[in-house]
Amino acid sequence: MENEKLGSIALIGGGPAALFMLKEIVNQNLQVENIYIFEKNERLGVGMPYGKYGSCNEHLANVSANEIPELIYDVADYLSRNPTDDFPDYYINGKLNPYQVLPRLLLGNYLENQFHEYIKLALKLKIKVHVLTDTAVTDLLYDRKKENYKITITNDQVYDAEVVVICTGHYWPLTFEGKKKGWYDSPYPPSKFDQRTNFPVAIKGASLTAVDAVKTLSRLNGQYFYDDDKVSYVLNEDSKNFSIHLFSTGGYLPALRFHSESEPYSLSWSMTLDEIYDYKEKNNGFVALDYVFERNFKNPIRHSDPEFYEKIKDMTIEEFVEEMLSLRKELDSFTLFRAEYLEAKKSINRRKSISWKERLAAFSYAMNYPAKHFSAEDMLRLRKVLMPLISVIIASLPQESYKEIIALYEAGVIEHIQVDRDSHVDPHADTGAIYRYVDIQDKKHEHHYQLYVDGTGQQPLEFNDLPFEGLKDQGLISTGYLNFKDPNEGEKYVSEKSLHVKSDSNNGYYMQVKGLSINDYFQALDAFGNATKNLFIMAVPFIGGLNPDYSGLDFCDTASRRIVKFINQ
Ligand SMILES: Cc1cc2nc3c(=O)[nH]c(=O)nc-3n(C[C@H](O)[C@H](O)[C@H](O)COP(=O)(O)OP(=O)(O)OC[C@H]3O[C@@H](n4cnc5c(N)ncnc54)[C@H](O)[C@@H]3O)c2cc1C
Repeated sequence: MENEKLGSIALIGGGPAALFMLKEIVNQNLQVENIYIFEKNERLGVGMPYGKYGSCNEHLANVSANEIPELIYDVADYLSRNPTDDFPDYYINGKLNPYQVLPRLLLGNYLENQFHEYIKLALKLKIKVHVLTDTAVTDLLYDRKKENYKITITNDQVYDAEVVVICTGHYWPLTFEGKKKGWYDSPYPPSKFDQRTNFPVAIKGASLTAVDAVKTLSRLNGQYFYDDDKVSYVLNEDSKNFSIHLFSTGGYLPALRFHSESEPYSLSWSMTLDEIYDYKEKNNGFVALDYVFERNFKNPIRHSDPEFYEKIKDMTIEEFVEEMLSLRKELDSFTLFRAEYLEAKKSINRRKSISWKERLAAFSYAMNYPAKHFSAEDMLRLRKVLMPLISVIIASLPQESYKEIIALYEAGVIEHIQVDRDSHVDPHADTGAIYRYVDIQDKKHEHHYQLYVDGTGQQPLEFNDLPFEGLKDQGLISTGYLNFKDPNEGEKYVSEKSLHVKSDSNNGYYMQVKGLSINDYFQALDAFGNATKNLFIMAVPFIGGLNPDYSGLDFCDTASRRIVKFINQ
């Protein structure tokens, strides 16, 4: 791009991913004349989780002010310039605790403010910024002659841009919501729950998304009482039959936040591209999961917690996971939840991290970059073996949420039920759903719930879910896949329908993964595996197959740095 100015870049979606793109455009001084930002809702920066479409007052982020990737002002600065009385539990008399998690709506206000600050900086750099809020992009098409993208919005108006970055973020496909009374495909927006529910409610999932639903529903049916460190819960007179049944296959509640020592996530933690390609050349064309585990988990642990390292240094990934989950298997989930709270509290009071958990989260984040170079065998191991542990550990449930859940437990209002992998939920003919499952005592169950919420969180989405038909029709995007290192292994999986394993003309085997194919710069790959000119995809649900970890704001920060660096080359 040297000496050559780009005409225009379009950010499709104006949430946190777009904010960090703008930050990088400004910081890396990308020479561009126009930036178009298309946001289907009314506010920039808040995205899905940090505004009214994803939160009410009771919802908390899982990050504290000191963990947010660097923007122009930090949260304390922002609040001193924009004092507010709206979040008294967080900010009172001009004071905040930088280690306390932020209310999500406050985080949204902060991100929105920073978005506007970056727009001011971009304008100073003589970049024309065109903000189109309340504007949904409905299609994208590439004009090969003009070498630019045609961006169609809701009223069929069309905009042109040379570079497009898809920042559309979270997406919750609807199955029966809106068609079946009492069936909800996600807890968002939480304002849709506005009636008391004087009956047992089923929530699928037991992690952060499920906790979001628990927080809202419990407030509609009762009251929390806060007394220093202790929280109690009392049902309202007209909700005496309300209770919550949380269903999960693992039977685990999310791990709690503890004190974190490391600096915010950094690209330098993961393998560099040179390292990746050098490693592949020496190792039959694949990066090995075992190598990344050694590099990004065991090695850092060796320094930060030598005692723990001694215990695990000779363990395979499978043995390590088995060991870490064995305690979880032995204890009832609420007993373990209480024990983990005490451990996390100690970590916070002493400002001392729980090293192995912190390192596992860092490994999960760092793995995103080499994951596109894993063999299909290793991706299967990652998904089946490691991810169940990682997803519990990185949840980082805020202490405040723990106290509320324990209050519900002590009031006899919440139950956690472990179910089999074949368990399923079907809509009931009249209202809600029927949950069919086998419990850990092998007993079959079939229960009708008047209200059902899918709280399993953002699932990776498929090629066909992408709402931009033009890109599909023009073959500019393709489904992600990974090759098997050993064709015999690949052959074994061909008949397993859920895995989509196929053979190619050279007797090699490959596995289709969820979502779209991207390269190391988040650039879309076309139907022939070639990079699609100037099209980048940052919408995590659509790249989850090759980018398995979802490190939130940190991901937005590091991925946008990489994309802008590439455009700037
Ligand atoms: C409930 C919840 C809580 C979370 N909490 C945290 C947390 O505490 N910390 C953390 O680091 N991460 C958290 N995350 C992870 C989250 O992915 C990131 O923090 C962040 O929101 C990702 O930003 P994004 O811009 O990629 O996606 P989103 O936040 O989903 O934003 C995408 C934006 O694109 C817009 N859009 C979508 N389609 C179109 C279209 N066709 N045309 C125009 N605009 C469009 C949307 O309106 C939205 O504003 C949370 C996620 C969820 C779901």
